[in-house]
Amino acid sequence: SDVLVLDAISKTYGKGGPAPVSVLQNLSLSVGRGEVVALVAPSGAGKSTLLHIAGLLDTADTGRVILNGRDMSGQPDRTRTEARRQDLGFVYQFHHLLPEFSAAENIVLPQLANGVSSSAAQARARDLLGRVGLSHRADHRPAQMSGGEQQRVAFCRALANAPSLLLADEPTGNLDPATSDKVFDVLMTLVRDTGLSALIATHNMDLAARMDRVIRLGD
Ligand code: ADP
Ligand code: ADP
Repeated sequence: SDVLVLDAISKTYGKGGPAPVSVLQNLSLSVGRGEVVALVAPSGAGKSTLLHIAGLLDTADTGRVILNGRDMSGQPDRTRTEARRQDLGFVYQFHHLLPEFSAAENIVLPQLANGVSSSAAQARARDLLGRVGLSHRADHRPAQMSGGEQQRVAFCRALANAPSLLLADEPTGNLDPATSDKVFDVLMTLVRDTGLSALIATHNMDLAARMDRVIRLGD
């Protein structure tokens, strides 16, 4: 069964206005359970729009977004927010960690918001930090860490609530090439070890080639 199905998605910005921009036309794709899919697109092709629609942060004009077999398209905001919290993990080019909290706290907080007990949340944060080789950084704040370390913490936060799908937009795009390769290895290992499904946008063809399948926007 597929974790994510986008079925005949179309999106136009400024519909009905003087300068409509048609970004996605009748786009369909799927991500299977445990599958890691690369999304490769030239700038402006609609990669962010696609990830926002898949992530239930934006809605398509037509078509369906099916998450774990459930059509989320016509669902009320409350249901979509709930699905975002429980089923989806997000990683961006920039880490977006909370600066005044430690690495562990940044991974604990989303779990508390999801009703997990403090002790269970702490344990999961420590486990995730161990998986990305950052046990010794648990009590450090983001500013005390390198860019690669910050991004590894952001991966842990994205996985904090054990989502079924990871959506990543240039997850190592902010790092120098050597660090990017290493940090990407960490992400792939983390995704594989947890059996997570992922849709990962990247410009880096070497990184894309290491995923299960490559989808080119514009094809
Ligand atoms: P990518 O992430 O592939 O660079 P985007 O999804 O951000 O592309 O944008 C695709 C196209 O849609 C671009 O031409 C962009 O200018 C346009 N676009 C994005 N957001 C809006 C918006 N809110 N209103 C109008 N046009 C937009
Ligand atoms: P609330 O204000 O009730 O927390 P939100 O809609 O702001 O509801 O957030 C719901 C969930 O969606 C949270 O897990 C939040 O982290 C996530 N979320 C909100 N906006 C974004 C975004 N731009 N990118 C990724 N996740 C987001």
